[in-house]
Amino acid sequence: MTTEHRSVEFLPDYCPRCNPLGHYADSRDRVASLTEPTSVTWRGGKYVVCRYRCDGCGHQWRRADLWDAQSAGFDPKHRKAA
Ligand SMILES: [Zn+2]
Repeated sequence: MTTEHRSVEFLPDYCPRCNPLGHYADSRDRVASLTEPTSVTWRGGKYVVCRYRCDGCGHQWRRADLWDAQSAGFDPKHRKAA
């Protein structure tokens, strides 16, 4: 696992406007609509809230049930005291 190359691999989602088919679209459409979150918020539950804005069409949306805290790099079992 490398952190040197920032890519669309980090908690991506498909723009629902550019790619309404999601996983069922062909690979070219999937790659073109893949979007990284503009912000990731975790309030201590199982899932994080990701906000997205599509580079292609400007559509904004949020997902609160797509990525769990561990995938986002938070560790629910070892939460640091602030
Ligand atoms: Zn879009």
